Amino acid sequence: MSILSILMKSDKDEPSSALRSDCSLCVPEKEVVIWRGAFWRLIDAGDTSIPGYLRLIVNRHITELSWLAKPEREQLFSLLQVIDESMRQELKPTKINIASLGNQVPHMHWHIIPRWHDDPYFPQSLWSTAQRDTVSPEQDARHQAAQRLFAKLPKLCAKAVY
Ligand SMILES: [Zn+2]
Repeated sequence: MSILSILMKSDKDEPSSALRSDCSLCVPEKEVVIWRGAFWRLIDAGDTSIPGYLRLIVNRHITELSWLAKPEREQLFSLLQVIDESMRQELKPTKINIASLGNQVPHMHWHIIPRWHDDPYFPQSLWSTAQRDTVSPEQDARHQAAQRLFAKLPKLCAKAVY
């Protein structure tokens, strides 16, 4: 079953809590989980060109914001806020991009992306054509700051949902 057919099917079905063995986000092959809660999990997006890039993924099959249950919606905003704050403190980015697309998988997820004026795509989105191929002289320091951020986030996320 293709990802598209899973997505199309989930549009017609009620949102589901059941894990599906044919879904890449129910049964991820490689995922570096930073924190996992009852409704959401936070993973390292693993993009080496953008240190600290995170994804916040809803655990059940649900694709639209208005379909979230109230506790899921409340936790989402609390989590985005605490992630944004701690990302700003540790990474000191030029800007933080927060985006939800979800056209290819049946789990709503949020990209939380620290952006720097000298990152490969700035000021365009990460999904655009690269603007430059130089590596910032700050890149190593940003990777180290990202590791500090990842170490702090489990405690901060757990606190944010209580
Ligand atoms: Zn799934």
